[in-house]
Amino acid sequence: MANQWGIPKDVEEAVLKRDQRCVYCNCEFGVERAKKRSWEHIINDVTISTIENIALCCIGCNASKGAKLLSQWLESEGAKRRGVSQETLAPVVLAALTT
Ligand SMILES: [Zn+2]
Repeated sequence: MANQWGIPKDVEEAVLKRDQRCVYCNCEFGVERAKKRSWEHIINDVTISTIENIALCCIGCNASKGAKLLSQWLESEGAKRRGVSQETLAPVVLAALTT
């Protein structure tokens, strides 16, 4: 599933190892559709395939974020409804916010 984005194999492996939970809401990935893990570009630019920009998040967060800018989505009702806050964000997301 990573290959459709042209994510390099080493990045894919590092991210799979790092992101054991959703990088946004911190939920555990599960079999339920909304909790399935999905590949995410933190900054919505598919040409940036670095470990700083590629992450795993649940389908629920991915669908909610959509094409919104990260900072805009975090302020949105959709993100708040999901319980996404500064406390649930993974370090890789926090780092993206400060750049
Ligand atoms: Zn999530």
